[in-house]
Amino acid sequence: MASTTSSGSRFLLAGQAEDGWSNENEATATCFCGAVQLVFPLKAPGLVDTFICNCADCHKLTASMFASNFTVLDSHLRHHRGEENLTQYAQSKTVISKGNTMTNFFCKTCGSLMYRRGTGFPGASILRIGTVDDFNLMDTVLKPRIEQFVKDRAAWLSGGEGVEQCAGYFYGSN
Ligand SMILES: [Zn+2]
Ligand SMILES: [Zn+2]
Repeated sequence: MASTTSSGSRFLLAGQAEDGWSNENEATATCFCGAVQLVFPLKAPGLVDTFICNCADCHKLTASMFASNFTVLDSHLRHHRGEENLTQYAQSKTVISKGNTMTNFFCKTCGSLMYRRGTGFPGASILRIGTVDDFNLMDTVLKPRIEQFVKDRAAWLSGGEGVEQCAGYFYGSN
């Protein structure tokens, strides 16, 4: 159900769920089929950072050319429904931080990747901007701050407008 509220929220037809919401402090992220819904914080310290990643892992992982991410503290992340409907895939052959095991949490019904957790950054989850129900947030609170692995970006993409560009890994050496 597409609708725009006076507060500037924007909900488009996107998947099965029609119960996404946002307020000043929190918002929902829902998988494509609607089985899994998360509630995440929109303010620090719960909301840690927002970034685009063009690394080779993110190409495979998203079946696309880049990932648009935001990091939240697990202490501020709630599973509103469907935690039992998440399946996990973990592996440690990652582009970032050798020996770091990344675990990906997917909806087992529709395959949406809801978040990733890494042994290299305990206590935090990396969510996907594309799963957020209020489309206004991707241009406001969740607009990416950093774009990393620009060196591996597809040549026909030019990068996020107004987003700080980083050739490799922004958050450390790899
Ligand atoms: Zn789903
Ligand atoms: Zn990446």
